[in-house]
Amino acid sequence: MYKKRWGFVIVTAQSMSRVRQVYISGIILFILGIVSCIGVVGMARLVWFSGSYAHAKFGVYEARRENKGLMMKIRFLNRFIAKETDKINQLVAFEDKIRLQYGMDRISNEVRRAGVGGRPSREDLMLTNLLDPVLMRAEAVRESLEVLIRKADLQDSTLTRVTYNVAKIHKKWSQRPSTWPTQGRITSYFGYRFHPIAGHTLFHDGLDIANKVWTPIYSTADGIVHFAGNKDYYGRMVAINHQASDCQTIYGHLHQTAVVAGQVVKRGDLIGYMGNTGRSTGPHLHYEVRISKKPVNPLSYILPTDAIID
Ligand SMILES: [Zn+2]
Repeated sequence: MYKKRWGFVIVTAQSMSRVRQVYISGIILFILGIVSCIGVVGMARLVWFSGSYAHAKFGVYEARRENKGLMMKIRFLNRFIAKETDKINQLVAFEDKIRLQYGMDRISNEVRRAGVGGRPSREDLMLTNLLDPVLMRAEAVRESLEVLIRKADLQDSTLTRVTYNVAKIHKKWSQRPSTWPTQGRITSYFGYRFHPIAGHTLFHDGLDIANKVWTPIYSTADGIVHFAGNKDYYGRMVAINHQASDCQTIYGHLHQTAVVAGQVVKRGDLIGYMGNTGRSTGPHLHYEVRISKKPVNPLSYILPTDAIID
């Protein structure tokens, strides 16, 4: 029986002339074929496995790198929140000081907390907790940022209110008589006194300060000139309205006025000169302070010279 043989022709390097033939039986060739096939499949599987392993490893690496980046961002945001919260706390302390100085009530911590709002709900936190630690931190940062924004908004509104109130108080102070209207000696106080011209006891509704004619007279507060001219027994007179403090000051017996009705004046502005006009026995200033149109003791509206007014 003829046995089929598969042959290889092997040409050796030493001699081109010598050609050797090697015969391998079919079964061996078949076995070799199977083995090589298994080898190729195995190799392919190995390559595939190592590829997917590398891919998985790369994916984990990528995720880690991403998480690391996120954590860095979260840390940065936390630092930012801490810094901004510090700034707001400083503003709160500043506002408390201003409120104390200007006699305004301090906003209690409870009211501030109520204005800012609460923390996230327990369920929300548990849910995020289950998801991912990075997500949990991100959620905490988001909550902190929201609280920070609400704090800033609250601070903005309370400081706006304080600024408005301080401006109002300053205006009131600037329009409240508080200085001497002129230099000289007091010749008559506020209250009942024997009137030298009338010849009997009369209520003196002002303060008389005597000095030479032409001694300058100054406004004792900011205001608007209500009247400047001749007025009965006041002689030449200036009346200034200080509306913010519901008050009027009157300067009588002037030699000459230095302002006109409707003129805006500041505390310390020259408004006229001392004289002896009207019902007067010698050069002096008759100075009146009226609160809600009622004369009050002007000495109660003259602060010590070293007092800080505004
Ligand atoms: Zn008088």
